[in-house]
Amino acid sequence: MGMHGGMGSGAGRMARSFASRPTPEGGHPIRRSTVRRVAGAFRPYRGRVAGVLGILVVVAGLGVVNPYMLKLIIDVGLLQHNIHMLLVFVGIMILTPIISTGLGVWQTYLNAVVGQRVMQDLRIALYSHLQRLPLRFFTGTRTGEIQSRLANDVGGVDSVITNTATNTVANLTRAAATIVGMLVLSWQLTLLSLALMPIFILVTVRVGEIRRRVSRDTQVTLADLSALAEETLSVSGVLLTKVFGREDAAQHRYVRETNRLTALMIRQQMVGRWFFGFISTFFSIIPALVYLAAGLFFFHRPGLHGSAGISIGTLVAFTTLQSQVFFPIGQLLTVQVEIQGAFALFDRIFEYLDLPLEITDRPGALSLPRDQVRGAIAFEDVRFAYERDGGPAITGVSFTADPGQLVALVGPSGAGKTTLTYLLARLYDVDGGRITLDGHDLRDLTQVSLQGAMAVVTQETFLFHASIRENLLVGKPEATQAELEAAARAAAIHDRIMELPQGYDTVGGERGYRLSGGEKQRIALARAILKDPRVLVLDEATSALDTHSERAVQDALERLMGGRTTIAIAHRLSTILAADQILMLEGGRIVERGTHVQLLAAEGPYSRLYDQQFAGQPLLSAAS
Ligand code: ADP
Repeated sequence: MGMHGGMGSGAGRMARSFASRPTPEGGHPIRRSTVRRVAGAFRPYRGRVAGVLGILVVVAGLGVVNPYMLKLIIDVGLLQHNIHMLLVFVGIMILTPIISTGLGVWQTYLNAVVGQRVMQDLRIALYSHLQRLPLRFFTGTRTGEIQSRLANDVGGVDSVITNTATNTVANLTRAAATIVGMLVLSWQLTLLSLALMPIFILVTVRVGEIRRRVSRDTQVTLADLSALAEETLSVSGVLLTKVFGREDAAQHRYVRETNRLTALMIRQQMVGRWFFGFISTFFSIIPALVYLAAGLFFFHRPGLHGSAGISIGTLVAFTTLQSQVFFPIGQLLTVQVEIQGAFALFDRIFEYLDLPLEITDRPGALSLPRDQVRGAIAFEDVRFAYERDGGPAITGVSFTADPGQLVALVGPSGAGKTTLTYLLARLYDVDGGRITLDGHDLRDLTQVSLQGAMAVVTQETFLFHASIRENLLVGKPEATQAELEAAARAAAIHDRIMELPQGYDTVGGERGYRLSGGEKQRIALARAILKDPRVLVLDEATSALDTHSERAVQDALERLMGGRTTIAIAHRLSTILAADQILMLEGGRIVERGTHVQLLAAEGPYSRLYDQQFAGQPLLSAAS
């Protein structure tokens, strides 16, 4: 079963590594630059790699020892009845596999260490690179795809190292050592058995092609299937399916894809079974032919060979060796595909590692000390498009916000409000014009100082799967418990946190304690209060809260906005009324600006929007 099992697991590895993208027809090109980088990844572990290679060569050499002992045992020990030598040979024969096994275990250990370490290095490099990639990358890439690269592609690295690379070297050395051993025993018989090699090679290569095709189809189907599951079984996917009653349709699609997969899997196993059958038959027939040839040598020309001829011991040793030569050669024939797969794997990892960071610190970028930020914001003829060739999301936007002012962004959905806040937080860089903080172009400031000066509160509050305390500390990692509680009190969430089962240690997040929408919003506000930024970027939640929560959120908001420059996507009437300046956006432009009173009087787009969206809202702050 050795061959079948070995190749089966190879296909399994490829199934994982090709899951995210099938290789193009004709295999993956092996680029010199990739080879260099892969070698670079191994450099820190070169001592261990050398150890592995050394052991492989020794083990290959040892593989020839026992067949040779067999010859000596038969010719000298048994036929000449030399008990002393028999004991020596048998002793060696017992010792050889013991040494081989010991070395093999050691080699596996070294291999595992190298494989796991290289994988860990790549995983960490990839993760830290991904974290620094611009938001653009994440909005444009399926989450599953990113996770698949981290999990499957990087995960495949270990098996590439421990299987593909090691097996290739092991098979090469084993085949070479065996052929040398065979030649030493009898070059005539060696020629004979190698003459049969082309048949073996032909079948192996052909079967390899079929297997590759089937396994490629399998991987595509697997990828489709997991994408389908991921899409339809995500919270939003399930929600959509349920509310539209599309369970049956989703199920049909799933059944169809699994049917395809099942057929492919069966095909894959059958191709393997046929091949295994061929190989075992081939292996059984060859020794018979060797015996036949040897028999012809012995019986027809005994005089010609004499003592230098082919002895019985030589013959037995030869057939033993010969049975060892086809397996490694067969493996080497198919290894090209695996090596290509391995390089495809590395290329995919490197492709991600090479993605430009886009938003980076300019050389000599200015570090603006936190306590020196005044918080003056200016947009100067800002232009921006999400896609290079797409339509602009923001066109010619100019406005200023003095320190401590509140600027409210209003306008229909898709007007560009969120985009403006993204640009201000430098999640994207502007395509034209500039945005300044205290007169400095955002691109001239270090990201750290910009992030330190600014807090962004998004509409959806994201909680990590961690304690409430840790979730709050995102705002200021070094905050004391007293500061934490003060911020929570200011956000009107402290009392509620104290009611939770483990207080501040209660685990929040998607799989943690379920906080209500209003509570989560207040946690987000507490986070921002804790950070105490000069500039606040706020996307007010649209979701209506119960009156109690609404009141609490609004109080927290007022405390948060007080004294800071705030750019708010306003959904609350109170925010709009409090704004020093309202910017009415439409189609990525500012179409109207002024205070609420001025804009209502103008009876333009703002007053129409106001009538639609805000007029009916209860004005809680009016009471205070
Ligand atoms: P608003 O917040 O006012 O509803 P947005 O700023 O979200 O509007 O969107 C402005 C425009 O930019 C819209 O036309 C929207 O479709 C487009 N847009 C938003 N995000 C992206 C994105 N990640 N990629 C491409 N286009 C986007």
